[in-house]
Amino acid sequence: MATAKVPTPSVRPNGFHVKRGGDPFYSSAAWRALRRRALVIAGHHCAWCGADVRARGASRVDHIRPRREAPALSLVLANLRVLCTVCDARRHAEKGQGVAGHALRKVDADGLPTSALHHWNRRQP
Ligand SMILES: [Zn+2]
Repeated sequence: MATAKVPTPSVRPNGFHVKRGGDPFYSSAAWRALRRRALVIAGHHCAWCGADVRARGASRVDHIRPRREAPALSLVLANLRVLCTVCDARRHAEKGQGVAGHALRKVDADGLPTSALHHWNRRQP
């Protein structure tokens, strides 16, 4: 007997959008379990700025070596770190993704980076 295909609604009744074409890795049980462990080990704090990431949607568990680069480390706890959404955005800008990445690579006449986000231009803490 053939199973009828039920179209997936793009918005769930609770208002959350269902990610279409999202990476199935991030919905796997193995990833979710490991992600939770990483959060517990980090004490639910951002590894970079120390912000509390306990609130719903406040945490990002980041692969230190990106999956694209080191797929074998996808489920290795030592390759994970907890970031807040702000630090995660900064991290992705540094990885050279999207417009922020392009801005990051812009240089002036002397060959020095013009972006304030570039690590050469960042103020010392
Ligand atoms: Zn942070």
